Amino acid sequence: MRVIKEKKNRRIIQYFLAPLVPLVIIGGVYQPYLGYLALAMMVTMMVMTFFWGRLYCGWLCAMGAFHERVLSKISLHREMPKLFKKTWFRWLFFVLLMGLMVSRLIASGGDPAKIGAVFVMMWTVATTIAVAFGLYFKPRSWCNFCPMASMQGVMAPKTHLLKVADDCKQCGLCQKVCPIQTYPGAYKEQGYVPSLECMRCENCVVNCPKKALSL
Ligand code: SF4
Ligand code: SF4
Repeated sequence: MRVIKEKKNRRIIQYFLAPLVPLVIIGGVYQPYLGYLALAMMVTMMVMTFFWGRLYCGWLCAMGAFHERVLSKISLHREMPKLFKKTWFRWLFFVLLMGLMVSRLIASGGDPAKIGAVFVMMWTVATTIAVAFGLYFKPRSWCNFCPMASMQGVMAPKTHLLKVADDCKQCGLCQKVCPIQTYPGAYKEQGYVPSLECMRCENCVVNCPKKALSL
């Protein structure tokens, strides 16, 4: 199911960010220093996480923007397997991709151009996996087990959480409009959605017929 309503300013921001993905991947073949753009985005993400959890994922991630604004046009939008949200699966991807990055950084010998090329390579690998999954399943499937998401889940404070009020009737609509297939209604008793499971995109907030969700 496609999003019925969404935050307009978020959509506009994503249209500006989405082109960064092909820019870094294709441009990076000729200009490895473009990889530092990916590094700068990672640093921004980490700083933001300390204040707002995964807000960066929902609003400023270029890869996420690419999946939502470009990949979604050709994706089959099939339901994601529960496996994508399993802790062991998330940390397996974390160890594999971070291991690859660290080993390549060591091999770069500190050469600035080679370091840039490592980040171009990492973005290319991540995008390839993300597109492969996003073509068949929902476009942002990758965002459930992206190593950066797992890391943010650990770093995030217990503030700026998505709250679920008692008015929730557990109709399931919020899960259908959630880009990462989180079901806020399932957290009604707890009263809030865990930081790791929510990108603060507010799709569910604006679509909930009972106005039971808030940030
Ligand atoms: S859309 Fe609203 S009422 Fe329906 S399950 Fe989600 S939070 Fe509850
Ligand atoms: S739970 Fe709601 S705010 Fe969080 S990612 Fe899903 S749709 Fe966005």
